[in-house]
Amino acid sequence: MLFPDECRVCDQPLTNFSRVPVCRACLAKPEPLAADYYCVQCRAPFLSRFPLDDQGRCALCRRGVRGFDAAYSFGFYEGELRKLIHLFKYGRIQTLSAPLGRLLARALPREQTFDVIVPMPLHWRKRWQRGFNQAELLAGEIGRRTHTPVRKALRRVRNTAPQAGLTSAKRRENVSGAFHALRQTKLRPSLDNLRVLLIDDVMTTGATAASCARALKRGGARRVTLLTLARADRRLMFDPLLNDSNFSGRSEDAQS
Ligand SMILES: [Zn+2]
Ligand SMILES: [Zn+2]
Repeated sequence: MLFPDECRVCDQPLTNFSRVPVCRACLAKPEPLAADYYCVQCRAPFLSRFPLDDQGRCALCRRGVRGFDAAYSFGFYEGELRKLIHLFKYGRIQTLSAPLGRLLARALPREQTFDVIVPMPLHWRKRWQRGFNQAELLAGEIGRRTHTPVRKALRRVRNTAPQAGLTSAKRRENVSGAFHALRQTKLRPSLDNLRVLLIDDVMTTGATAASCARALKRGGARRVTLLTLARADRRLMFDPLLNDSNFSGRSEDAQS
């Protein structure tokens, strides 16, 4: 396959031959998110102590609407990281799964181990349009690195309405019941008592991931940890419920 001579992120001429049409400098630019505070329950990062209660829990955990047990992300959905994710998904440059997989692996604490890795499913129509599911490619990268089996254990039963412009509460409603754990078969043993690592590219409010996590738990999973490349909204680092009434969200969740 031939790629253009310019880096698809910064337009500088590419000097090394590579299957990835992005220069080394741009691949090295995404910065891991740095936070001073983390929710003790879901590990969501915060820029101040303010959104956390006496026990150190965020508002979503306090209200019991998280669904997943922990969440790790590499960085913010901005700058080079955002461009790389766009090239990967919408530019359909599947070879970016390797460098993006490296970033994803850095976000996962070393001591964490899992029984199975599950990619966030796409609705079949979207998968067919794109030709691949970006979450599956990323899950494969993490599976290889951690020697953990990857299993497509979830099905998206509804193609949900776009999340853009919905409040956080409406987003949760929109995606609730959108996923089912697939029935157990010989090739697909049950999730009973397993520690699941759920992988997606971008987390916006976490509503979609929460809906998946609940489906996995209905399917028997003991623990669900979410791992994403990027968190979409910096404002959520101050207070996840801040935007409940006036969230003019972007459409990343919707475009998944
Ligand atoms: Zn570049
Ligand atoms: Zn939390």
